[in-house]
Amino acid sequence: MNYSIALIPGDGIGPEVISKAAGVLDLVGDKFGHVFNFIELEAGGCAIDSTGEPLPASTLETARQCDALLLGAVGGPKWETLPGDLRPERALLGLRAGLGVFANLRPATLLPQLKNACPLKDEVLKAGHPDGKAGFDILIVRELTGGIYFGERGRDGSGKTPDSSAFDTERYSRFEIERVLRVAYDAAAKRGGKLCMVDKANVLESSRFWREIAMETAAKYKNIETSYMYVDNCAMQLIRAPGQFDVIVTSNIFGDILSDEASVLSGSIGMLASASIGVKGTGKYPAGMYEPIHGSAPDIAGKDLANPLATILSAAMMLRYSFSLEKEAQAIENAVNKTLDSGLRTKDIADRTKSAQNEKIVGTNEMAAAVIKALEDE
Ligand code: NAD
Repeated sequence: MNYSIALIPGDGIGPEVISKAAGVLDLVGDKFGHVFNFIELEAGGCAIDSTGEPLPASTLETARQCDALLLGAVGGPKWETLPGDLRPERALLGLRAGLGVFANLRPATLLPQLKNACPLKDEVLKAGHPDGKAGFDILIVRELTGGIYFGERGRDGSGKTPDSSAFDTERYSRFEIERVLRVAYDAAAKRGGKLCMVDKANVLESSRFWREIAMETAAKYKNIETSYMYVDNCAMQLIRAPGQFDVIVTSNIFGDILSDEASVLSGSIGMLASASIGVKGTGKYPAGMYEPIHGSAPDIAGKDLANPLATILSAAMMLRYSFSLEKEAQAIENAVNKTLDSGLRTKDIADRTKSAQNEKIVGTNEMAAAVIKALEDE
């Protein structure tokens, strides 16, 4: 098959990590008989420098015609003093809205090789794990384009008098809830078969609506074990017994907070991939935007220090969710695992404890080359 992939390297370490992920995809194409056509586009600070805008119309237009988008990161000190609307990060919102991606998928996994990077104790990691292993493999599905971040907001009064007030509104329509639940259930079917719907249904009407619709949806996915949890409890359970979770699905604001909490448990930001998925044409949800969760890391840009694995793993997510190439996605994940098994570590994931004798600290280039070698040997 032929696939067109929009590549947006962006700023800082973005170009370094994107070029490595593209190299991995090229090899996957050769090995499995696919052609990935890359179309490189500008967004972020570099686009401001060349066109005056963070997201040129031509970038969005071309990205919309591609089968999926892989983005590095945008932003940096050079553009920090620009007004909000002209800042590089605006490009991300414009791309999400323009591509209609409404479900954000963030895996939070503890790879056994990086166990020492997790701040939780072994007994906590074992608690709740179905096999009693010390670890977790969670996928948080967050609604991305609705709820309180997009609801009606405003202020009354001068802001100085005691009765001055401010408000934001959490409003969800049925179709917004149904479509993100479908993504989450489909993901659970491809993973551990468990889904936990997180809300605040004991207090919020919008959460009660979510739960009603989740119960209807659960009845259609009888092979998935559905549970329901209040968000305050979930925040606690994530650090008490993360092994109990498989897929968590929740609203925009709850997902924002919980996914950041979960990301800390995985060790380094340099390992964490993400996918934002929508619906395009008549397909199920091929429109997708894939990116590492880290930023442009200007402090290490151009120094061969960036961990390329989050972007490489984002490319694997692209193969899985936009192209349904499960075998190919797993081949990338296996290659990453083997590379870590061999003891190679970029600085951000280096074990600083005494047990780290078998590790070798490498740079971006050597890490990516090792993943490519492991993939060749698969
Ligand atoms: P950051 O994620 O860029 O960096 C935070 C820390 O993590 C830094 O010490 C950095 O060196 C380290 N780090 C990040 N990615 C790494 C990797 N792959 N390998 C090794 N170390 C890594 O966050 P920040 O410093 O707050 O932001 C820098 C710029 O990036 C800002 O302009 C910010 O607005 C932007 N940003 C962009 C995105 C995005 O494009 N999606 C996300 C977050 C921040």
